[in-house]
Amino acid sequence: MGVERKIRAVLEKYRGYNLSFEIRDGIVFLYGRVNSHEEWVRIGLEVGRIRGVEGVVNRIVWDGYPEEEAKKREERRRKIFEENKDKVVGSYDVVIVGGGVVGAAIARSLSKYQLKIALLEKAPDVGAGTTKANNGMIHAGVEPPRGTLKRKLNVEGCRMYEKWAQELRFKYKRVGSLWLITPRTLAKYKKYIPGPLYTLILKYVLPYIVVLKGLINGVSGLKVVRGRKLFEMEPYAARDALAAVYVPWTGIVDPYEVAIALAENAAANGVEIHTSTEVVGFVREGDAVKGVVTNRGTFLCRYVVNAAGLYADEIAELAGSPEFTIHPRKGVIVLFHRCTSRYVNHCLAEIILPPHPLTKGGGINPTIHGNVMWGPTAVEVPDKEDTSVSSEEVDLILSKYSTILSEFPKDRVIRYFAGVRAATFNEDFIIRPAKWVRNLLHVAGIQSPGLAAAPAIAEYAVKKLKEMGLELREKPDFNPYREPIPSLREMSEEEIEERVRSDPRWGNVLCECEMVSEAEVVEAVRRGARTLDAVKRRTRAGMGECQGSRCLLRVAEVLARELGVPMTELLKEEAPLFDGYVRGEAW
Ligand SMILES: Cc1cc2nc3c(=O)[nH]c(=O)nc-3n(C[C@H](O)[C@H](O)[C@H](O)COP(=O)(O)OP(=O)(O)OC[C@H]3O[C@@H](n4cnc5c(N)ncnc54)[C@H](O)[C@@H]3O)c2cc1C
Repeated sequence: MGVERKIRAVLEKYRGYNLSFEIRDGIVFLYGRVNSHEEWVRIGLEVGRIRGVEGVVNRIVWDGYPEEEAKKREERRRKIFEENKDKVVGSYDVVIVGGGVVGAAIARSLSKYQLKIALLEKAPDVGAGTTKANNGMIHAGVEPPRGTLKRKLNVEGCRMYEKWAQELRFKYKRVGSLWLITPRTLAKYKKYIPGPLYTLILKYVLPYIVVLKGLINGVSGLKVVRGRKLFEMEPYAARDALAAVYVPWTGIVDPYEVAIALAENAAANGVEIHTSTEVVGFVREGDAVKGVVTNRGTFLCRYVVNAAGLYADEIAELAGSPEFTIHPRKGVIVLFHRCTSRYVNHCLAEIILPPHPLTKGGGINPTIHGNVMWGPTAVEVPDKEDTSVSSEEVDLILSKYSTILSEFPKDRVIRYFAGVRAATFNEDFIIRPAKWVRNLLHVAGIQSPGLAAAPAIAEYAVKKLKEMGLELREKPDFNPYREPIPSLREMSEEEIEERVRSDPRWGNVLCECEMVSEAEVVEAVRRGARTLDAVKRRTRAGMGECQGSRCLLRVAEVLARELGVPMTELLKEEAPLFDGYVRGEAW
């Protein structure tokens, strides 16, 4: 059956709605109106799954679609565009839209060449989008389906992390994952399998199928463990675990530290990082973009990279090459106190078949700072900014993963939060030259494992730009190294004494939970932090047990002093830190 007939067959299932479609250069545009957001997602996914469909632009609206808000957003953008389109900021070889881990990685990879590059980020800090709210796991690449770009770049990216970490000096640890096989693994099929055979399959057949899947995906070294060995590796793992597959490649990082390190190193190699710079439109000349228009003026350019995460579809549309719609998928994560770290040595998950069609299913993982995370969930949401967390969602996580680690002290939660995945209806990364704009490269649909794949995504994007005509001449003085901010928490007593002697600000501890000194906050500001959350991501001030309730004002006071602004003008992330006046002393 041809693509058109297959799409018709999908829409036929929703025939009450009068839906229509057209196909342009492999991109399917869907039109009409449905009752619910769920149906909007379902139709998009069914069409996106059809072989030969290179992208789905889902222009169907659902009842309750926020049309007024969309119109207002559009008007705001147009106004900023008109005000700024004639103010030229400068001329660049490459302009990258989006300062998440992906945009920052591309900027750093391009900074090896003799190019003038600008990275534009609408938030006041890099890494403040999806990059700041994830599990920080460097997956090995066993899960992504064969034949996807996700699989290829995940496997390659994971292998590149060690070198990245050495050069950029961010924290990275290869802890490995352990995927448990329990009586629940095949529960859905149990009625078809006679009793003793059920256990036999779980113990001796399924683990090797997973190992084989790894091999087919290009991930070697997977091992099957059982019995004593399993519980030596993970003493608190579910007692009914019959076997487990050990994946030695899985690592953990602090995702925003990675993005910050990449951006710092890119800047040291000449990339201009423009934060608080929102792209609102493009100046076109024929089939090419000539300028990227922002609230700060127009960045003239030869090439543009669209790495705008959740907003990559809107950037594509603004540039004149709409090729995909992002359907936001929220994931809630629960974070536990560091005292729980002894319960978890590896990234842990329970294999449940059939797998969730759209996510890797979540689990339990240690963080690089010694905490433990449970999650994430996967829920389609209409709003790209929906990072709300309900008590039901937290309860769901706590009950779902309790089976993996039953003795874990679940009352030691210190925080819960949500991140939003930028999924396209093809459910794969889209990294390719735009179809209808000659000098635009899309790097979109970078949902999980986007963090793990980031080093390979960057190399792949550079290769694509080269194929598009960008000349790459190596820079002889490229410096791949970057130094992190020294951390009081990690210093020996002698080192602390020495530092305090030379600068007493090292002795002024602002955040007691995470042992963060005034000197670290000052250094974070010197490196570009402009908001309280930007300081927090660089120093960990406010990330401990009290979640900032004791140190927030102390840190804010130092930040205000260093920036030379009153405390009332400080931002938390993008919104003001304080709604009203701050009276008297900070503490
Ligand atoms: C709950 C959850 C858990 C996850 N866990 C993992 C994991 O363990 N391992 C893993 O590999 N992956 C994980 N992921 C996926 C990973 O977080 C993403 O793949 C990755 O962060 C995507 O990075 P990005 O740079 O593409 O997007 P983002 O970080 O969102 O960056 C895009 C940037 O573009 C900016 N932008 C948007 N519009 C504009 C504009 N108009 N002008 C200027 N700038 C703009 C945004 O502000 C944003 O900073 C997880 C995701 C979620 C949601």
